[in-house]
Amino acid sequence: MTSKSSLLKVILLGDGGVGKSSLMNRYVTNKFDTHLFHTIGVEFLNKELEVDGHTVTLQIWDTAGQERFRSLRTPFYRGSDCCLLTFSVDDNQSFLNLSNWKKEFAYYADVKEPEKFPFVVLGNKLDVPERQVSGEDARQWCRENGGHPYFETSAKDSTNVAAAFEEAVRRVLAQEDRGEHLIPTDTVDLHRKPRSGPSSCC
Ligand code: GDP
Repeated sequence: MTSKSSLLKVILLGDGGVGKSSLMNRYVTNKFDTHLFHTIGVEFLNKELEVDGHTVTLQIWDTAGQERFRSLRTPFYRGSDCCLLTFSVDDNQSFLNLSNWKKEFAYYADVKEPEKFPFVVLGNKLDVPERQVSGEDARQWCRENGGHPYFETSAKDSTNVAAAFEEAVRRVLAQEDRGEHLIPTDTVDLHRKPRSGPSSCC
């Protein structure tokens, strides 16, 4: 049990505006307003939690703004233990873009076996009455794309936010139990040019 990693890097990916910063902020500070985050450019926040008897520190990386600085993808993605693929249930295009985000992450993070990597899918803004993506469609996508766990969340009213992060931790710990190391953890050269990658998504 003591062999478990105590620091886990989790990255939130998805279209701009789906609520990535808000989810991180809600989970770590229990606040909804992200104005300060965006103003000072917070990149990651740490949160200690206990899951199934293991105490871990989650280092949660927010990629908000990275949409504008695509060349920074590699250092942001590298070394992630888990990826939270996020869309907004009131924005169908953000749902359609999930596949591209997943491909992009696997490529730039250099994931050896994407089908085994712990992705968790979040359909955020559950509190918005006009939704464009049904829960059934989202669950079907998760089933057809590797059996990822799916959570409908609201950063605004907190619904399922903690549950989603805890499930991410469970997936990583389960993978460590199986002795699987699917992603390089080497130091990243910030100046390295990425190889030509998949066509840009989103
Ligand atoms: P990001 O670009 O993905 O980091 O998205 P933000 O966290 O900046 O959120 C974009 C906008 O969506 C902001 O106006 C947030 O207040 C709003 N937002 C984020 N999460 C929720 C949510 O769960 N419910 C509602 N109603 N609005 C949200």
